[in-house]
Amino acid sequence: MPRDRANARRALGDREMMPATVGRDLCLWVVKPGSLQRDDSGEILEARSTVTLIESGPTHILVDSGLAGEEKAILSGLDKIGIVPEDIQILVNTHQHSDHTGNNHLFTSARWLHGADLDGLGIAPGVRIAATPGHTMDSISVVCHSSIRSVIAGDALPTMDNFLKDLPPRIHVDRRLAMESLHRIANMADLVVPGHDHPFSIPERNYVTLEGLGRAVHAEGSRRGRM
Ligand SMILES: [Zn+2]
Repeated sequence: MPRDRANARRALGDREMMPATVGRDLCLWVVKPGSLQRDDSGEILEARSTVTLIESGPTHILVDSGLAGEEKAILSGLDKIGIVPEDIQILVNTHQHSDHTGNNHLFTSARWLHGADLDGLGIAPGVRIAATPGHTMDSISVVCHSSIRSVIAGDALPTMDNFLKDLPPRIHVDRRLAMESLHRIANMADLVVPGHDHPFSIPERNYVTLEGLGRAVHAEGSRRGRM
């Protein structure tokens, strides 16, 4: 750990900063939750992506980097966890829309991964890429497989509402592919970190507190929910 992680955790006031401990050596943190503002007709006015940190043993992986102008929020989110941008070894962009790539420049020492040709690639123990096309053809998700299965979905599953109402992302290049990807994620995941919303549980069909999920997993000693 680059700094005293236990102190960092104690100092956290924001529940979004709590990690989901999804296995002894696998941890998820929402550095900055995503958001989506719509007008009355549902058209998107402003979109900011979720920024997620995965710790797999000593490897730090950042998934998406938010909208340009969010540097401060991202740096302060990382600082609360106790890491600096130079600690990020791998930067994954779920796709190339600018609300997901706006702060890539902060992570110059990271290996940059993107694109559907990475489908199936393992990038760290328990962490692999899955192609999830439909929103864009190059959309990918990051699957963390440990005591539970978590999917960092980008805009293949942008909000919990898309899952609950079985709706494709509003912006898509192929509706059939988008629905296939959404269903594949829902079928494989216990926990989803969506592209523009807070983390939610597939079996509970509700938002989750990440730390609570970690505790539940350890208490039960096994993966919850359906696969
Ligand atoms: Zn997008």
